[in-house]
Formats: sequence, C-alpha cells, structure tokens
Amino acid sequence: MTDEPMAPPVLPNYDEGTLPDLATSLLAALGARGEANPLGLPRARRICLLVVDGLGWELLRDHPAAAPFLSELALTARPLTAGFPATTVTSLTSLGTGRPPGQHGLLGYQVRVPGREVLLNGLRWNADVDPVVWQPKPTVYERAATAGIDAFRVAGAKLEKTGLSKAAMRGNSYRPADSLGGLVAQAAGALRESSRALVSVYHGQLDSTGHAFGCRSDAWRYELGHVDKLAEQLAGSLPEATTMYVTADHGMVDVLPDDRIDADTVPGMRDGVALLGGEPRARHVYTAAGAAHDVLAAWREILSERAWVLSREEAIAAGWFGPVDPALADRIGDVVAAPVGGLAVVASSAEPLETALIGMHGSLTAADQFVPLLMHASA
Ligand SMILES: [Zn+2]
Repeated sequence: MTDEPMAPPVLPNYDEGTLPDLATSLLAALGARGEANPLGLPRARRICLLVVDGLGWELLRDHPAAAPFLSELALTARPLTAGFPATTVTSLTSLGTGRPPGQHGLLGYQVRVPGREVLLNGLRWNADVDPVVWQPKPTVYERAATAGIDAFRVAGAKLEKTGLSKAAMRGNSYRPADSLGGLVAQAAGALRESSRALVSVYHGQLDSTGHAFGCRSDAWRYELGHVDKLAEQLAGSLPEATTMYVTADHGMVDVLPDDRIDADTVPGMRDGVALLGGEPRARHVYTAAGAAHDVLAAWREILSERAWVLSREEAIAAGWFGPVDPALADRIGDVVAAPVGGLAVVASSAEPLETALIGMHGSLTAADQFVPLLMHASA
C-alpha cells in the first residue's frame, strides 16, 4: 500500500472515439442518412469490417514482428476505446447497434435479469429471455438495409443463431465460415456481389487463445500471426472502391496467481450479495434488499486501491456506460468494481471455468480499453 492516489480510469470517450461511434461512422461513410460520422470516415461504396476478438491496441503495438501487415497499418492509425465493460457481449452490441452500452443494455458478460434474481450470461444466453425484447432497438444491419445497403456477417456457423447474435446483430445475410480461408472467401464473395455493402467479419480465436494461454504467451503470438495473414488476405481480395477496417472488441491482460482476489473465499465479499455478475475484471454486484450501502463499503475496504469501486449511481454519473437509458439502469450492479493494473476479482466456486483463465479483460485500464482502428483502401 502506498500514499499515492489511485491512477484515474481510462474512461471511454463516448460520442467521439468508441466502438458505437465506429458503427454509425461506417453507415455514414456508406451514405446512410441520419447516421453520425464522428470518426470522419471517408465515403466508400463497400466496407469490410474485420473484428478481431481480443486484439488490444497495446498488444498489437508490442508485437510488430508477429503482425507485420497490421503493424504497418497501425503506424498511421489511432486507437478507439472499447466502452465499459470491455467485453465481447457489450462491445459486439455496441458495434451491432451503434449505441453505447447504457443505451443498448447488454451491460456485461453476466447481468441480472431484473425481477428474476438470475444472471443472463450474454455468450450462452438463457432460453427464457427473448433477445429481441432484451435489445429491441434496430441494429446497424437493419439500418443499412433501410438505406439500401446490403448487410452481411461472416463468422463461425455456430454463432449465427445465438441469443447475442439475435439481440445485437440481427438483420444481416449470414455467411458462415469456420476457417481462416473460409472467412476471406465468404467476405470477398459478399463484397463482389454488391454495389453497396457492409460486410462484417468476426475472428474469435485470438481471444480464446489469450484466455487459455495468456496474451503474453507464445500461443497468443503465433495466433496473432494467423490473424495478420487473415487481414492481409482480406485486403488483397477487396474489389475496387472498397475500404477495409480492422478493429477489436477489447484488449486483454494476464492475471497472475497473486493478483487474484477470490470473492468466494475472502471473508466479507459475499455478505449482503444476492448475485455476483459481470466477470473478474468488471464486476456487477447485485445486493440483497437494503444492503447496497454496506456492500459498497465492504468492497471498498477489501479492495482498497486494487479496484475502482463505485455505486450504480456513481458509475452512471461518471459516464462508464455512456448515457444510461433509465429503463436499463437496474441491469447495472448496485456496486460496480473495475480492477486496476492486472488484478481480478475471481469467484472460484461460482465460476470455476472463468477463474481458471489466464488472460482476462473488462476493466478501465489502457490494456483493456484501447483497440485499434486500422484502415486499408482497395486500389
Ligand atoms: Zn474474451
């Protein structure tokens, strides 16, 4: 413990340079009316957006030799902030709706279903939660179609009909591909058959490699090499008047054994807690009736300078989620905790699989928040 004040969090700069801003800017660049273009993206007839899960800006900058193609694009690029929490469920919905988390309502990996006292896992989904009711606002694919733009999504076959896909990305023509070459061929085919098109390509294995082996591992670096080749092949396959962008949903940090605070074993962390949501680097703590004040005090005391710990009202006021739709506010934890540095609040009993991961993400550090926005225009 030091007397130094805690470093401030890296707050997402909503409306200026976050993932939802990228989504609306892409639509505007394709000529869709009424879509904001805060990133000032140039007009294009066709756009291919490659989303590489877990490709943080800092990680890319630290691996120029493993990713020569992407690293060259990064020389003239700038990062975006992902949004909070910096996690796939939230960020893919920000990209899929062009709205910040506080407006689209997919507020983390696990959030409480209001009134039900159960958690909704956004990746696995719950059969009794209708994804369209959970996120009813139009997606960017639906808005593209309204504007006469053909909208495609290229990703693994098993992702087509997930709850997250229905909530966040419905309305596209889905082109399944379960290999790197398949992703390139499907994207190139979709681009070639349209005169105005938005083609979104998703690659998920860099994130899963980082979770399993760490993002500072040989495995992650080797996988990055495949991602680099994927991007290079996509760039080489673009028809004329087409721009490719590369971004990510979040970065990642490796959490060392000593940097894990176990909510299921540290005394006091479960007192007054009805449901522990979120994930190790972005916790939503849902408290029992009347316990919010005590839980906030206990988590602040226990975590001290190891996490930014705010009440729901404080997190909303601080702008962590962007402007929050009041109807969605009770999806946010009564207490919200974002670990600093490379720390994590794990739950060894409730979440054995997640607790076993090495690479993690979600918080408000530069490593979690900054993602690349790379651009390559066809000849
Ligand atoms: Zn992940």
